Amino acid sequence: MVVRTNVSGAERDAGLIFMKPGDLSAALAKLEAGFLKRERKTPGNPCGPEMLLNGRKLIAFASNDYLGLANDAALKNGATEAIEAWGVGAGASKLVSGRLGIFETLERTCAEFAQREAAVFFPSGFLANLGVLTALADRHDVIFADRINHASLIDGALLSRAQHVRYQHADIEDLASKLANTPVASGSTRLIVTDSVFSMDGDEAPLEALMALALQYDAWLIVDDAHGLGVLGPQGRGSIADAGLKPHPNLVMVGTLGKAAGVSGAFVAGSKDLVEWLIQRARSYIYTTGASPMIAGALLASFERILHGDELRSRLQNNIRTFRSGITALNLPYTLLPSRTGIQALIIGDNETTLHIASSLLDQGFWVPAIRPPTVPAGAARLRISLSAAHTPAHVQGLVNAIGLACA
Ligand SMILES: *Cc1c(COP(=O)(O)O)cnc(C)c1O
Repeated sequence: MVVRTNVSGAERDAGLIFMKPGDLSAALAKLEAGFLKRERKTPGNPCGPEMLLNGRKLIAFASNDYLGLANDAALKNGATEAIEAWGVGAGASKLVSGRLGIFETLERTCAEFAQREAAVFFPSGFLANLGVLTALADRHDVIFADRINHASLIDGALLSRAQHVRYQHADIEDLASKLANTPVASGSTRLIVTDSVFSMDGDEAPLEALMALALQYDAWLIVDDAHGLGVLGPQGRGSIADAGLKPHPNLVMVGTLGKAAGVSGAFVAGSKDLVEWLIQRARSYIYTTGASPMIAGALLASFERILHGDELRSRLQNNIRTFRSGITALNLPYTLLPSRTGIQALIIGDNETTLHIASSLLDQGFWVPAIRPPTVPAGAARLRISLSAAHTPAHVQGLVNAIGLACA
């Protein structure tokens, strides 16, 4: 066997080595021995607070469906109507066979939602992040990225071949010093790239300070609002609106629509020129078949529900309050990270204990994912409790009690 050089630190620590086809079973066994092997659950019912698993009913705290829209009647109706009007397939990529009319409506709606000049729709957030970073940066440029950005932003930066400078998590002083000390060739570009709400921690980027630095250096600021959209800001318009940032040509919003919006896909919103450039140059936009019209139909209904969703958001906030005060009262030897969003992270530490607690919760009827390396750093394995407006107060209180028992 040969040591692979492009494995993550955690995988290397676990002694994960493989190269040839015949090495895979040994590599998988190593993952299993290190409590790092992931198993896919296969629910037998739609996404929601209750999950049917092998005939058992569990209360699930695992999805990013923060507003409970994934199985919402209005969204399903929107999808059905779009199928009737537009069919189920796009035919080819947009630059080849065209962008169906319902996607023009969707992109206009996305731009209005983000309160920006224009928006372009990608089939997923992963593709949107790859597209933005590779269209705006190349090997002459420098990307300044928060250390714990989402995997798609890391991969986009790598794919762009730009210099990738990672600053300490949410640390403005570290970013400012890296901006000041990283030489950039004349005629090249700086990009500052961040999650708005960090997907495994639930804390938030200091957007106002990041924007000030972006203006100081005439850099792009790319904000991936996967977990803020629908949840934060007036009418759920997201983290940028919540921070009160004004539209600016340097400011780019990636709005992922598979989380609170309950469907799938993502938009990139910004200036007209930015969007026009992405259509010309974002390979993950150009060389992929357009999303199904049913996605657009569901999303148009979803935007309506989000914009008029203050009641959903207040239900979510109530659940967050119930959960946080309940966990605090348990006085556990574990840290509950600060978060005002649906992402609540209880840091346990080692993989084995985290899996043990998660499996005790499962025995008690609660499905909470154990998040382990390489998704989070070694030694920071955690329960990632994902709260939704669709959970009842009794679901949340039940989970708090079960965590108390599991950790006793
Ligand atoms: C989920 C997520 C993505 C990827 O979006 P998909 O639509 O699931 O591909 C990108 N960024 C962040 C921060 C995410 O949490």
